[in-house]
Amino acid sequence: MKKVGFFRSIHLKFVLIYVLLILIAMQIIGVYFVSKLESQLDRNFKSSLEERINLLAYSIEQEMKKQRDDTTPKIEEDIRTVLQDVKMEDISEVRVINSKSMVLGTSNPYNQARMVGKRTTSLLIKRALAVGSPSDKIELDRNTRHRMRIMVAPIKTNNQEIIGAIYLEASMENLYNQMKQINGIFMTGTILALVVTAVLGVLLAQTITRPMSDMRKQALEMARGNFSRKVNIYGDDEIGQLALSFNNLTKKLQEAQATTEGERRKLSSVLSHMTDGVIATDRKGRVILINEPALGMLNVSRETVLQNPIVEVLDIGETHTFDSLISEQESLILDFSTENKPLILRASNSIIQKETGFINGLITVLHDITELEKIDQERREFVANVSHELRTPLTTMRSYLEALADGAWKDDDIAPKFLDVTQTETERMIRLVNDLLQLSKMDAKDYRFYKTSVDFIGFFNRIIDRFELSKSQKVIFVRDLPNQEVFVSLDEDKITQVLDNIISNAMKYSPEGGTITFAVHIEDAAKQVLVSISDEGVGIPKADVSKVFDRFYRVDKARTRMLGGTGLGLAIAKEMINAHNGDIWASSQEGKGTKIFFTLPITQDEQEDEWS
Ligand code: ADP
Repeated sequence: MKKVGFFRSIHLKFVLIYVLLILIAMQIIGVYFVSKLESQLDRNFKSSLEERINLLAYSIEQEMKKQRDDTTPKIEEDIRTVLQDVKMEDISEVRVINSKSMVLGTSNPYNQARMVGKRTTSLLIKRALAVGSPSDKIELDRNTRHRMRIMVAPIKTNNQEIIGAIYLEASMENLYNQMKQINGIFMTGTILALVVTAVLGVLLAQTITRPMSDMRKQALEMARGNFSRKVNIYGDDEIGQLALSFNNLTKKLQEAQATTEGERRKLSSVLSHMTDGVIATDRKGRVILINEPALGMLNVSRETVLQNPIVEVLDIGETHTFDSLISEQESLILDFSTENKPLILRASNSIIQKETGFINGLITVLHDITELEKIDQERREFVANVSHELRTPLTTMRSYLEALADGAWKDDDIAPKFLDVTQTETERMIRLVNDLLQLSKMDAKDYRFYKTSVDFIGFFNRIIDRFELSKSQKVIFVRDLPNQEVFVSLDEDKITQVLDNIISNAMKYSPEGGTITFAVHIEDAAKQVLVSISDEGVGIPKADVSKVFDRFYRVDKARTRMLGGTGLGLAIAKEMINAHNGDIWASSQEGKGTKIFFTLPITQDEQEDEWS
């Protein structure tokens, strides 16, 4: 904020107001005082002149009333003598005129010859002689340029007969000079008062402007986010109270800002740490906020989506508008899957609404439901698989049992065969149900392992021996086992089940005379044994290799079912191996053979028995 210029400042305004007030007051007082004084002085001057005229009128009346003869001096001479006595500073001339308007005498020696004995033409004198009343006027002297008061008074006898008139000229310059002096004094006083007022105004204004500029600085600091500054309190007046309120306001603002900032931090922390994506829009549907998870889900950058319509950002512009999102408020399922990664999002919308009902914007929460969808899909497939697996043997059994009921039981040749089939199917169903039960227990973590530290080579040899003894087909067993003991902590029953499954699979899919190789490799660095069982059988197509561990997955359903498989053996094996902290995988070449690998961690000593 720029500084307030001097000509716009309160300082100047204060000084101007004071000065103007004083000026106006002085002017009013001055005009009133001077005019009153002037009229008073003028009145005094006039009355002193009147007194003088009255005195003169009396003396001259006496002279005029005198009986004159040749021995007595002429009236003009007597009047001159009387007029000679008229000594007054301001009176410049006194003339005596008789009733015939003839000038009998003048006090001005320069006018003696010119005027005495002549008739006067002055209108004032003529009126005084005619009417008998005094009159006066102010006139400007042509020579001296002085203002002159001219007064004319009739000379009357006791019985009111007008016998002449007195004409008096008095300069008013003294009076005006006095007035000028008084005005001068007044002016000086006014200027002095104005100067003092101006100085006082500056000082007074400072007492107001200082706290104000302090508050201004404070407001600027507050705008910059600095709330630590405080306004000085100079007094307990209104400005002091304003400063106090300002300091209180600063404190309240600081607290409010701290709360807001805290809330903002909390919100931004919640938004960035939550797993769901959040998008907020303004009332026109333009994105104003988007958190990191949402950016990751939509695979966009913040700059590209901010201020863009949400329907475009969610790629639903063809089917939805912002208004339809607001009115429907239903959650949408959005498929953002790419070739490499499946991604299904559920977008739940809720509107931001004021108490008045005015809609301020929309909040969309994106929830990744890929896993849920996958589980749901798996569940559906699982149910379908189980139903299918159970329905097939049951249908077979029903038709055989129907045939038996229809009379086949009487046939000694057919009846045992039919019963044999139903028994096989029943056993398969029991196996299937057992496998399912086992898997379900493992899913629910409702199982117990009794692990013992076992020499894996000896353990493995015993299992192979069992198969070698019982094998009916012509398959060759090759053992590539290290000639040393290696201890692994395992639940013998469970790992036996795993190996049984893998070996029986290898035998099942091996051709006549095929070789099955059993190998164990001790990986000291990884502290684990790597077990592999390879056959030279039909193999598994490349695309299916990773799927053989899935539940119910079978490369060739008809064939495996014929071979008595449930499609759950390798899935159970995977769960078991994983529960022993190992890994299991397969590699295969179609037509050439299959190799199943698994690892198990090596224990430090042979005595380690544990329950888990
Ligand atoms: P099953 O009980 O059907 O054998 P598994 O889970 O043990 O179920 O095996 C799943 C599928 O993997 C089998 O149906 C089969 O198609 C395939 N498979 C497993 N082992 C082999 C193998 N050694 N050679 C060829 N295919 C195999």
